[in-house]
Amino acid sequence: MSELLNCGTHGQQPKTYVCKHIIKSMESGVGVGFLWSVTDGEYDAICHKCNQLSEQQWQEQQNELGRLLCLGCFKVAAKINDADLGRVN
Ligand SMILES: [Zn+2]
Ligand SMILES: [Zn+2]
Repeated sequence: MSELLNCGTHGQQPKTYVCKHIIKSMESGVGVGFLWSVTDGEYDAICHKCNQLSEQQWQEQQNELGRLLCLGCFKVAAKINDADLGRVN
């Protein structure tokens, strides 16, 4: 079971992991890409730019680029970026 996050908007939600550019797209409303995946029920997504980083570059910059997001906000972000999450709980 994934850990819960307390979101000001959505209340208690499973936590997801995204890059900060996706957070920014939620503020600006401008899509940046939304390449998502789900591992053991935990969702994560990165933008097109971060998708071009090598595995090593991502590891090095993960603390700088990575942000936690509640699943509710994750769905909002997906919508802004025209991503289809398919069947999410
Ligand atoms: Zn990014
Ligand atoms: Zn939320």
